[in-house]
Amino acid sequence: MLSGKTALVTGSTSGIGLGIAQALAAQGANVLLNGFGDYQPALEAVRQAGQPHAVQADYHGADMSKPAEIEAMMAFAAQRFGQVDILVNNAGIQHVANVEDFPPEKWDAILAINLSSAFHTTRLALPAMRAANWGRIINVASVHGLVASAQKAAYVAAKHGIVGLTKVTALETATTGVTCNAICPGWVLTPLVQKQVDAKAAAQGISNQEATAQLLGEKEPSLQFTTPEELGALAVFFCSAAGNNVRGVAWNMDGGWAAQ
Ligand code: NAD
Repeated sequence: MLSGKTALVTGSTSGIGLGIAQALAAQGANVLLNGFGDYQPALEAVRQAGQPHAVQADYHGADMSKPAEIEAMMAFAAQRFGQVDILVNNAGIQHVANVEDFPPEKWDAILAINLSSAFHTTRLALPAMRAANWGRIINVASVHGLVASAQKAAYVAAKHGIVGLTKVTALETATTGVTCNAICPGWVLTPLVQKQVDAKAAAQGISNQEATAQLLGEKEPSLQFTTPEELGALAVFFCSAAGNNVRGVAWNMDGGWAAQ
């Protein structure tokens, strides 16, 4: 379905980004990975997922908090693959503290990585998408783009912001073959959430299993994690012909979290 297209997935060395990258590769898209840490296993997993379509996968290590590095990554993508047809803005970090205790440098980092990076990639990817009259921009927001939780000021502000950016981008491209939508997951058991489980277990002197049950029980009525594979399937739907007129939605996959 996506043979001949190229996807750039930011923050795809682990977790949700890697799941989405694998799902797009399995549909035939070439993939440019990005993120920190050892990227070789992710590259191998994506190549394997795309093997039936002989997809090409590569990596760029741009720090998504740095506009100049984002520009270099977009230039690399154009030179390596021709252009970016599918842009998945997924890189993100978290920090948990009350507003008055929130370190200003953490606020700046979360806003830069979780929100501003998507503005930069989008502004740089749009001209070629418009010229081709086809493109898909998928912003990985969060249920925290729709509702708030205490102690997550920067994250909630950034995620509400990216839902807003999604709507504006969708309106500005509404008469073209470019669509822009957001995905709003509830809890997904990735390294980002494992850290929150570990902190809960340590703070209360409870087991990892108890902390996990508590975490889900507080917010997610299904008491189940959403998986990167499920989120990958939603991204594939947005990229399909059936998604041609899905524009500006913030689609939660959250086990009923935002329905409460
Ligand atoms: P993760 O920690 O597994 O992955 C985050 C990715 O972003 C990694 O590849 C990491 O290297 C990369 N990254 C971090 N800082 C970066 C930077 N400065 N430059 C480039 N890459 C950087 O986390 P995840 O849970 O897979 O999160 C992915 C996205 O999903 C985030 O935007 C997160 O907010 C969102 N999300 C996660 C959950 C969840 O429950 N896990 C829920 C809702 C939304």
